[in-house]
Amino acid sequence: MSDCLFCKILDGEVPSDEVASNDHAYAFRDVSPQAPTHVLVIPRRHEPDVGSLVEADPDAAVAVLGLAKQVADEVGGSYRLVFNTGADAHQSVFHCHAHVLAGRSLGWPPG
Ligand code: C5P
Repeated sequence: MSDCLFCKILDGEVPSDEVASNDHAYAFRDVSPQAPTHVLVIPRRHEPDVGSLVEADPDAAVAVLGLAKQVADEVGGSYRLVFNTGADAHQSVFHCHAHVLAGRSLGWPPG
């Protein structure tokens, strides 16, 4: 999608700090980290949220989860995987993305 920030990151039009990638997904550091490790994992296919990705392309959804696991395993220890879905859940970029948060103790419940 031409007006999607994360599609522009995938195209290299907007710079990003790459962490890892596979055929279906791309991982890069969040510009506003909320933990010592804060990585976003996005599908190469544009879908607005995780629900639509699962319905449209299950292989890509598995690839996103697999890449998130790879990132978390490289950090080691406990981690949190978050898909904010919908504006009331604090989704601000409407291209599906997983937050991988690690490197500190994480409180519960989330805000
Ligand atoms: O779940 P939500 O949609 O709020 O997350 C979007 C994330 O994208 C934010 O954590 C924000 O810091 C990140 N972001 C980024 N690079 C940009 C714009 C937003 O990492 N250029």
